[in-house]
Amino acid sequence: MIFDIESLTGECDCGATHSLTTREILIESGATGRLGDIAGRLGLGDGAVVVCDDNTRFCAERISDVMGRSMHASPIVCLPSKDLHADEHAVALLDVMLPPDAGWLVAAGDGTIHDTVRFVAKERGVRFVAYPTAAAVDAYVSATSAMTWHGYKVTVPAVAPIAVIADTDVFSAAPYRLTVSGLGEVVGKYTSLADWKIASLLTGEPYCGRLASLIGEAADAVRSVMPAIQRGDKGGYEQLMYTLLMSGTAMQICGSSRPASGAEHHLSHLWELEVINPRLGALHGEKVGIGELLILERYKNLLASGALTGERVIREYGGLPTRLLRVGFGDHYGNIISENTPDPLSTVDLDALRDAMPDIRAIVESLPAPAQLAGQMSDAGCKTALDEIGLRGSIRDDSLMLSPFVRARLTLQRLSALLLSRDAAQ
Ligand SMILES: [Zn+2]
Ligand SMILES: [Zn+2]
Repeated sequence: MIFDIESLTGECDCGATHSLTTREILIESGATGRLGDIAGRLGLGDGAVVVCDDNTRFCAERISDVMGRSMHASPIVCLPSKDLHADEHAVALLDVMLPPDAGWLVAAGDGTIHDTVRFVAKERGVRFVAYPTAAAVDAYVSATSAMTWHGYKVTVPAVAPIAVIADTDVFSAAPYRLTVSGLGEVVGKYTSLADWKIASLLTGEPYCGRLASLIGEAADAVRSVMPAIQRGDKGGYEQLMYTLLMSGTAMQICGSSRPASGAEHHLSHLWELEVINPRLGALHGEKVGIGELLILERYKNLLASGALTGERVIREYGGLPTRLLRVGFGDHYGNIISENTPDPLSTVDLDALRDAMPDIRAIVESLPAPAQLAGQMSDAGCKTALDEIGLRGSIRDDSLMLSPFVRARLTLQRLSALLLSRDAAQ
Protein backbone atom coordinates (compact mmCIF):
# COMPACT_ATOMS: atom_id res chain seq x y z
CA MET A 1 0.00 0.00 0.00
CA ILE A 2 1.42 3.37 -1.03
CA PHE A 3 2.10 5.86 1.75
CA ASP A 4 2.95 9.08 -0.06
CA ILE A 5 5.02 10.86 2.55
CA GLU A 6 6.29 13.55 0.20
CA SER A 7 2.80 14.89 -0.47
CA LEU A 8 2.46 15.63 3.26
CA THR A 9 5.45 17.94 3.47
CA GLY A 10 5.92 21.52 2.33
CA GLU A 11 3.57 24.48 2.33
CA CYS A 12 0.02 23.63 3.36
CA ASP A 13 -3.35 25.36 3.11
CA CYS A 14 -3.39 25.57 6.93
CA GLY A 15 -0.67 28.21 6.67
CA ALA A 16 2.11 26.03 8.09
CA THR A 17 5.06 24.50 6.27
CA HIS A 18 5.03 20.83 7.21
CA SER A 19 8.24 18.87 7.62
CA LEU A 20 9.05 15.34 8.68
CA THR A 21 12.08 13.46 9.96
CA THR A 22 10.63 10.26 8.49
CA ARG A 23 11.63 9.96 4.85
CA GLU A 24 10.10 6.64 3.81
CA ILE A 25 7.11 4.58 4.91
CA LEU A 26 6.72 1.16 3.37
CA ILE A 27 3.64 -1.00 4.01
CA GLU A 28 3.77 -4.18 1.94
CA SER A 29 4.15 -7.91 1.96
CA GLY A 30 7.84 -8.83 2.09
CA ALA A 31 8.93 -5.30 3.08
CA THR A 32 11.64 -6.77 5.34
CA GLY A 33 13.62 -7.74 2.24
CA ARG A 34 13.78 -4.09 1.15
CA LEU A 35 15.35 -2.80 4.37
CA GLY A 36 18.86 -3.02 2.90
CA ASP A 37 17.91 -0.91 -0.16
CA ILE A 38 16.22 1.71 1.99
CA ALA A 39 19.14 1.86 4.45
CA GLY A 40 21.46 2.34 1.46
CA ARG A 41 19.31 5.05 -0.07
CA LEU A 42 19.13 6.90 3.26
CA GLY A 43 22.88 6.54 3.80
CA LEU A 44 22.53 4.81 7.17
CA GLY A 45 25.83 2.96 6.81
CA ASP A 46 26.96 -0.06 8.80
CA GLY A 47 26.75 -1.08 12.44
CA ALA A 48 22.98 -1.65 12.61
CA VAL A 49 21.58 -3.12 15.83
CA VAL A 50 18.03 -4.49 16.06
CA VAL A 51 16.23 -3.99 19.37
CA CYS A 52 13.45 -6.50 20.07
CA ASP A 53 11.90 -8.44 22.91
CA ASP A 54 11.58 -12.19 23.21
CA ASN A 55 8.20 -12.14 21.38
CA THR A 56 9.69 -10.43 18.33
CA ARG A 57 13.16 -11.99 18.35
CA PHE A 58 12.35 -14.05 15.24
CA CYS A 59 11.80 -10.76 13.36
CA ALA A 60 15.14 -9.42 14.60
CA GLU A 61 16.88 -12.56 13.35
CA ARG A 62 15.23 -12.25 9.97
CA ILE A 63 16.30 -8.59 9.71
CA SER A 64 19.83 -9.52 10.72
CA ASP A 65 19.92 -12.24 8.00
CA VAL A 66 18.63 -9.86 5.34
CA MET A 67 21.07 -7.10 6.25
CA GLY A 68 24.11 -9.39 6.49
CA ARG A 69 27.38 -7.50 6.73
CA SER A 70 25.70 -4.14 7.43
CA MET A 71 24.92 -5.39 10.91
CA HIS A 72 26.99 -4.67 14.02
CA ALA A 73 29.11 -7.53 15.40
CA SER A 74 26.44 -7.83 18.16
CA PRO A 75 23.45 -7.40 15.90
CA ILE A 76 20.53 -8.08 18.25
CA VAL A 77 19.59 -6.63 21.63
CA CYS A 78 16.69 -8.64 23.05
CA LEU A 79 14.87 -7.13 26.03
CA PRO A 80 12.85 -9.43 28.31
CA SER A 81 9.15 -9.03 27.46
CA LYS A 82 7.95 -9.87 30.97
CA ASP A 83 6.91 -6.67 32.76
CA LEU A 84 8.52 -4.59 30.03
CA HIS A 85 7.16 -1.03 30.00
CA ALA A 86 8.45 2.18 28.48
CA ASP A 87 9.87 3.45 31.76
CA GLU A 88 13.13 4.31 33.51
CA HIS A 89 13.97 0.60 33.96
CA ALA A 90 13.64 -0.26 30.24
CA VAL A 91 15.70 2.80 29.27
CA ALA A 92 18.46 1.88 31.74
CA LEU A 93 18.46 -1.74 30.56
CA LEU A 94 18.66 -0.85 26.88
CA ASP A 95 21.39 1.66 27.60
CA VAL A 96 23.50 -1.06 29.24
CA MET A 97 22.81 -3.73 26.61
CA LEU A 98 23.25 -1.56 23.52
CA PRO A 99 26.83 -1.57 22.12
CA PRO A 100 28.36 1.91 22.57
CA ASP A 101 29.36 2.02 18.89
CA ALA A 102 25.99 1.03 17.43
CA GLY A 103 25.68 2.84 14.08
CA TRP A 104 21.89 2.96 13.83
CA LEU A 105 18.97 1.07 15.32
CA VAL A 106 15.94 -0.90 14.21
CA ALA A 107 13.02 -1.01 16.66
CA ALA A 108 11.40 -4.39 15.99
CA GLY A 109 8.36 -4.75 18.19
CA ASP A 110 5.32 -3.03 19.61
CA GLY A 111 4.77 0.44 21.05
CA THR A 112 6.88 -0.24 24.16
CA ILE A 113 9.95 -1.18 22.13
CA HIS A 114 9.46 1.88 19.91
CA ASP A 115 9.02 4.32 22.80
CA THR A 116 12.13 2.96 24.52
CA VAL A 117 14.26 2.90 21.36
CA ARG A 118 13.29 6.41 20.23
CA PHE A 119 14.20 7.78 23.65
CA VAL A 120 17.60 6.05 23.76
CA ALA A 121 18.24 6.91 20.07
CA LYS A 122 17.85 10.58 20.95
CA GLU A 123 20.20 10.29 23.92
CA ARG A 124 22.79 8.49 21.78
CA GLY A 125 22.30 10.77 18.78
CA VAL A 126 21.71 7.83 16.41
CA ARG A 127 19.00 7.29 13.80
CA PHE A 128 16.49 4.47 13.94
CA VAL A 129 14.13 2.60 11.65
CA ALA A 130 10.69 1.62 12.95
CA TYR A 131 9.70 -1.99 12.27
CA PRO A 132 6.22 -2.42 13.79
CA THR A 133 5.39 -6.08 14.38
CA ALA A 134 1.69 -5.47 15.09
CA ALA A 135 -0.93 -2.94 13.96
CA ALA A 136 -1.64 -2.06 17.58
CA VAL A 137 -0.84 1.63 18.26
CA ASP A 138 -0.27 4.80 16.29
CA ALA A 139 2.91 5.98 17.98
CA TYR A 140 5.45 4.09 15.81
CA VAL A 141 6.19 7.14 13.71
CA SER A 142 5.82 9.83 16.37
CA ALA A 143 8.64 12.07 17.58
CA THR A 144 7.72 11.83 21.26
CA SER A 145 7.89 8.92 23.67
CA ALA A 146 5.02 8.08 26.00
CA MET A 147 7.02 7.07 29.08
CA THR A 148 6.22 6.28 32.68
CA TRP A 149 8.75 8.00 34.93
CA HIS A 150 8.54 6.84 38.52
CA GLY A 151 4.91 5.84 38.11
CA TYR A 152 3.76 9.04 36.39
CA LYS A 153 2.94 8.97 32.69
CA VAL A 154 4.65 11.70 30.70
CA THR A 155 5.27 12.54 27.07
CA VAL A 156 8.92 13.30 26.48
CA PRO A 157 10.73 14.63 23.41
CA ALA A 158 12.53 11.87 21.55
CA VAL A 159 13.41 11.20 17.94
CA ALA A 160 11.17 10.12 15.06
CA PRO A 161 12.20 7.16 12.88
CA ILE A 162 14.06 7.92 9.66
CA ALA A 163 11.98 5.21 7.96
CA VAL A 164 9.14 2.80 8.74
CA ILE A 165 9.21 -0.73 7.37
CA ALA A 166 5.84 -2.42 7.96
CA ASP A 167 5.89 -5.94 6.55
CA THR A 168 2.30 -7.14 6.04
CA ASP A 169 3.38 -10.77 6.40
CA VAL A 170 4.67 -9.90 9.89
CA PHE A 171 2.04 -7.58 11.35
CA SER A 172 -0.93 -9.53 9.93
CA ALA A 173 0.38 -12.60 11.78
CA ALA A 174 0.52 -10.81 15.16
CA PRO A 175 -1.76 -12.09 17.95
CA TYR A 176 -5.28 -10.95 17.03
CA ARG A 177 -5.70 -9.19 20.37
CA LEU A 178 -3.00 -6.68 19.31
CA THR A 179 -4.83 -6.03 16.04
CA VAL A 180 -8.17 -5.36 17.71
CA SER A 181 -6.34 -3.05 20.08
CA GLY A 182 -5.22 -1.17 16.95
CA LEU A 183 -8.87 -0.94 15.89
CA GLY A 184 -9.66 0.69 19.27
CA GLU A 185 -6.81 3.16 18.72
CA VAL A 186 -8.20 4.03 15.26
CA VAL A 187 -11.83 4.60 16.32
CA GLY A 188 -10.47 6.93 19.02
CA LYS A 189 -9.58 9.37 16.22
CA TYR A 190 -13.21 10.47 15.84
CA THR A 191 -13.28 12.35 19.14
CA SER A 192 -9.60 13.33 19.11
CA LEU A 193 -10.17 15.09 15.76
CA ALA A 194 -13.39 16.68 17.06
CA ASP A 195 -11.61 17.97 20.20
CA TRP A 196 -8.73 19.33 18.09
CA LYS A 197 -11.10 21.25 15.80
CA ILE A 198 -13.20 22.59 18.70
CA ALA A 199 -10.11 23.77 20.59
CA SER A 200 -8.79 25.51 17.49
CA LEU A 201 -12.09 27.40 17.09
CA LEU A 202 -11.83 28.74 20.63
CA THR A 203 -8.14 29.32 21.23
CA GLY A 204 -6.62 29.71 17.77
CA GLU A 205 -4.54 26.58 18.45
CA PRO A 206 -2.88 25.48 15.16
CA TYR A 207 -5.15 23.16 13.22
CA CYS A 208 -4.61 21.45 9.88
CA GLY A 209 -7.82 20.57 8.04
CA ARG A 210 -5.90 18.52 5.49
CA LEU A 211 -4.29 16.24 8.06
CA ALA A 212 -7.59 15.98 9.94
CA SER A 213 -9.44 14.83 6.80
CA LEU A 214 -6.70 12.36 5.88
CA ILE A 215 -6.94 10.76 9.33
CA GLY A 216 -10.76 10.89 9.39
CA GLU A 217 -11.09 9.31 5.94
CA ALA A 218 -8.55 6.63 6.81
CA ALA A 219 -10.44 5.84 10.03
CA ASP A 220 -13.70 5.52 8.05
CA ALA A 221 -11.93 3.14 5.68
CA VAL A 222 -10.81 0.99 8.62
CA ARG A 223 -14.39 0.80 9.90
CA SER A 224 -15.50 -0.52 6.54
CA VAL A 225 -12.80 -3.21 6.45
CA MET A 226 -13.24 -4.44 10.04
CA PRO A 227 -15.00 -7.65 8.88
CA ALA A 228 -12.24 -8.25 6.31
CA ILE A 229 -9.57 -7.84 9.01
CA GLN A 230 -11.37 -10.39 11.13
CA ARG A 231 -11.25 -12.80 8.17
CA GLY A 232 -7.48 -12.26 7.98
CA ASP A 233 -7.58 -10.23 4.75
CA LYS A 234 -4.15 -8.65 4.25
CA GLY A 235 -5.56 -5.61 2.45
CA GLY A 236 -7.65 -4.86 5.54
CA TYR A 237 -4.57 -5.16 7.75
CA GLU A 238 -2.69 -2.76 5.49
CA GLN A 239 -5.52 -0.22 5.72
CA LEU A 240 -5.32 -0.47 9.51
CA MET A 241 -1.54 0.00 9.54
CA TYR A 242 -1.83 2.86 7.03
CA THR A 243 -4.30 4.67 9.31
CA LEU A 244 -2.15 4.19 12.41
CA LEU A 245 0.89 5.51 10.55
CA MET A 246 -1.09 8.45 9.10
CA SER A 247 -2.16 9.39 12.60
CA GLY A 248 1.45 9.10 13.86
CA THR A 249 2.72 11.13 10.92
CA ALA A 250 0.24 13.90 11.77
CA MET A 251 1.57 13.89 15.35
CA GLN A 252 5.11 14.20 14.04
CA ILE A 253 4.16 17.09 11.72
CA CYS A 254 2.31 18.94 14.49
CA GLY A 255 5.02 18.25 17.07
CA SER A 256 2.39 17.03 19.54
CA SER A 257 -0.13 14.25 20.01
CA ARG A 258 -2.99 16.76 19.52
CA PRO A 259 -4.42 15.30 16.28
CA ALA A 260 -4.52 11.78 17.70
CA SER A 261 -5.30 12.17 21.38
CA GLY A 262 -8.30 13.84 22.97
CA ALA A 263 -10.84 13.13 25.70
CA GLU A 264 -10.94 9.40 24.86
CA HIS A 265 -7.18 9.09 25.56
CA HIS A 266 -7.56 11.06 28.78
CA LEU A 267 -9.80 8.28 30.10
CA SER A 268 -7.10 5.73 29.25
CA HIS A 269 -4.43 7.89 30.93
CA LEU A 270 -6.60 8.27 34.05
CA TRP A 271 -7.05 4.50 34.40
CA GLU A 272 -3.28 4.08 33.99
CA LEU A 273 -2.74 6.36 37.01
CA GLU A 274 -4.71 3.81 39.10
CA VAL A 275 -6.20 6.47 41.38
CA ILE A 276 -9.81 5.26 41.17
CA ASN A 277 -9.26 1.75 39.86
CA PRO A 278 -6.99 -1.25 40.30
CA ARG A 279 -4.16 -2.02 37.88
CA LEU A 280 -5.56 -3.11 34.53
CA GLY A 281 -4.13 -5.71 32.21
CA ALA A 282 -5.78 -4.01 29.22
CA LEU A 283 -3.84 -2.89 26.16
CA HIS A 284 -3.66 0.78 25.15
CA GLY A 285 -6.10 0.45 22.24
CA GLU A 286 -8.56 -1.57 24.33
CA LYS A 287 -8.76 1.29 26.83
CA VAL A 288 -8.93 3.92 24.08
CA GLY A 289 -11.70 2.03 22.23
CA ILE A 290 -13.87 1.87 25.35
CA GLY A 291 -12.93 5.48 26.16
CA GLU A 292 -14.12 6.44 22.69
CA LEU A 293 -17.54 4.88 23.22
CA LEU A 294 -17.94 6.67 26.59
CA ILE A 295 -16.91 10.04 25.13
CA LEU A 296 -19.10 9.63 22.03
CA GLU A 297 -22.05 8.87 24.28
CA ARG A 298 -21.20 11.87 26.48
CA TYR A 299 -20.89 14.25 23.51
CA LYS A 300 -24.13 13.01 21.95
CA ASN A 301 -25.84 13.47 25.35
CA LEU A 302 -24.57 17.06 25.51
CA LEU A 303 -26.18 17.57 22.11
CA ALA A 304 -29.46 15.92 23.13
CA SER A 305 -29.67 17.86 26.42
CA GLY A 306 -29.50 21.19 24.60
CA ALA A 307 -26.16 22.08 26.23
CA LEU A 308 -24.71 22.96 22.82
CA THR A 309 -27.33 25.53 21.94
CA GLY A 310 -25.39 28.49 23.39
CA GLU A 311 -26.86 31.67 24.89
CA ARG A 312 -28.21 31.15 28.42
CA VAL A 313 -26.52 27.82 28.82
CA ILE A 314 -22.96 29.04 29.39
CA ARG A 315 -21.74 29.81 32.88
CA GLU A 316 -18.79 31.75 34.25
CA TYR A 317 -15.79 29.55 34.98
CA GLY A 318 -15.11 29.07 38.67
CA GLY A 319 -11.51 27.81 38.38
CA LEU A 320 -10.02 24.38 39.02
CA PRO A 321 -12.17 22.18 41.30
CA THR A 322 -9.28 21.70 43.73
CA ARG A 323 -11.23 19.77 46.38
CA LEU A 324 -12.44 17.28 43.84
CA LEU A 325 -8.92 16.92 42.42
CA ARG A 326 -7.36 16.43 45.86
CA VAL A 327 -9.78 13.65 46.73
CA GLY A 328 -9.77 12.12 43.24
CA PHE A 329 -6.03 12.12 42.52
CA GLY A 330 -4.58 11.60 46.00
CA ASP A 331 -0.77 11.33 45.77
CA HIS A 332 -0.84 12.67 42.21
CA TYR A 333 -2.58 15.89 43.25
CA GLY A 334 0.59 18.01 43.01
CA ASN A 335 1.36 16.70 39.52
CA ILE A 336 -2.20 17.36 38.38
CA ILE A 337 -2.08 20.94 39.64
CA SER A 338 1.22 21.67 37.90
CA GLU A 339 -0.07 20.01 34.70
CA ASN A 340 -3.08 22.34 34.83
CA THR A 341 -1.15 25.53 35.50
CA PRO A 342 -2.04 27.56 33.52
CA ASP A 343 -5.53 26.14 33.37
CA PRO A 344 -6.55 25.65 29.72
CA LEU A 345 -10.18 26.48 30.53
CA SER A 346 -9.30 29.92 31.91
CA THR A 347 -8.17 31.02 28.44
CA VAL A 348 -11.57 30.36 26.85
CA ASP A 349 -13.49 33.51 26.04
CA LEU A 350 -17.19 32.98 26.79
CA ASP A 351 -18.34 35.15 23.87
CA ALA A 352 -16.11 33.16 21.53
CA LEU A 353 -17.64 29.97 22.95
CA ARG A 354 -21.17 31.29 22.27
CA ASP A 355 -20.18 32.25 18.71
CA ALA A 356 -18.58 28.84 18.09
CA MET A 357 -21.59 26.90 19.34
CA PRO A 358 -23.20 26.23 15.91
CA ASP A 359 -19.86 24.84 14.65
CA ILE A 360 -19.39 22.74 17.78
CA ARG A 361 -22.90 21.37 17.36
CA ALA A 362 -22.19 20.45 13.74
CA ILE A 363 -18.96 18.70 14.73
CA VAL A 364 -20.75 16.62 17.38
CA GLU A 365 -23.63 15.84 14.99
CA SER A 366 -21.11 14.45 12.48
CA LEU A 367 -19.60 12.01 15.01
CA PRO A 368 -20.60 8.34 14.66
CA ALA A 369 -23.50 7.03 16.73
CA PRO A 370 -21.94 5.19 19.71
CA ALA A 371 -24.32 2.21 19.60
CA GLN A 372 -23.62 1.58 15.92
CA LEU A 373 -19.86 1.89 16.40
CA ALA A 374 -20.00 -0.39 19.46
CA GLY A 375 -21.82 -3.01 17.34
CA GLN A 376 -19.17 -2.88 14.60
CA MET A 377 -16.37 -3.04 17.16
CA SER A 378 -17.95 -5.92 18.99
CA ASP A 379 -18.46 -7.87 15.73
CA ALA A 380 -14.74 -7.42 14.99
CA GLY A 381 -13.81 -8.76 18.44
CA CYS A 382 -13.08 -5.45 20.21
CA LYS A 383 -13.88 -4.96 23.86
CA THR A 384 -16.67 -2.42 24.24
CA ALA A 385 -17.66 -2.37 27.93
CA LEU A 386 -15.84 -1.30 31.10
CA ASP A 387 -16.23 -4.70 32.77
CA GLU A 388 -14.41 -6.36 29.86
CA ILE A 389 -11.20 -4.56 30.88
CA GLY A 390 -11.65 -5.14 34.61
CA LEU A 391 -13.46 -1.90 35.53
CA ARG A 392 -16.79 -1.71 37.31
CA GLY A 393 -19.52 0.13 35.43
CA SER A 394 -19.96 2.45 38.42
CA ILE A 395 -16.56 4.00 37.67
CA ARG A 396 -17.93 5.65 34.54
CA ASP A 397 -19.09 8.96 36.05
CA ASP A 398 -15.96 9.49 38.17
CA SER A 399 -13.82 8.67 35.13
CA LEU A 400 -15.60 11.28 32.99
CA MET A 401 -15.29 13.88 35.77
CA LEU A 402 -11.60 13.39 36.57
CA SER A 403 -10.08 12.41 33.23
CA PRO A 404 -10.02 15.90 31.63
CA PHE A 405 -7.48 16.97 34.25
CA VAL A 406 -4.83 14.37 33.40
CA ARG A 407 -3.63 16.60 30.56
CA ALA A 408 -3.66 20.37 30.09
CA ARG A 409 -5.47 19.96 26.81
CA LEU A 410 -8.76 21.57 25.85
CA THR A 411 -11.42 19.05 24.87
CA LEU A 412 -15.19 19.31 24.64
CA GLN A 413 -15.32 17.18 27.79
CA ARG A 414 -13.21 19.78 29.60
CA LEU A 415 -15.32 22.58 28.13
CA SER A 416 -18.51 20.93 29.27
CA ALA A 417 -17.86 22.40 32.76
CA LEU A 418 -19.01 25.69 31.20
CA LEU A 419 -22.11 24.25 29.57
CA LEU A 420 -25.43 23.78 31.30
CA SER A 421 -28.15 21.61 29.85
CA ARG A 422 -31.37 23.33 28.81
CA ASP A 423 -33.18 21.92 31.87
CA ALA A 424 -30.46 22.99 34.31
CA ALA A 425 -30.44 26.50 32.87
CA GLN A 426 -34.12 27.09 33.60
ZN1 LIG B 1 -3.16 6.14 21.37
ZN1 LIG C 1 -1.47 21.72 7.17
